[in-house]
Amino acid sequence: MRSCDIINDMKNQCESCLLPFNQDPAGKHEHPQYCSLCFKNGQFTFKGTGKEFRDMCYKAMTTEHNIPKWKALFFIMMIRFFAPRWKTKK
Ligand SMILES: [Zn+2]
Repeated sequence: MRSCDIINDMKNQCESCLLPFNQDPAGKHEHPQYCSLCFKNGQFTFKGTGKEFRDMCYKAMTTEHNIPKWKALFFIMMIRFFAPRWKTKK
């Protein structure tokens, strides 16, 4: 993912993890602002803090998806600063 996509295309991506909705693994998402991974059956799937969420994303990216560490770090930084769900929280 390129950073410019995130900034230009905020309406079409998850406000929690910044996943573009057209890449949603379920193919659809029940909440207009969140993807199927973050919001399921009427509630958030992750209920911890923003920091815990980013730690979890980082771990998943580097272990399960083999994403290089620098890229994973960049990605969680984007979440930290641009994802509306976490913007107001530490
Ligand atoms: Zn999401």
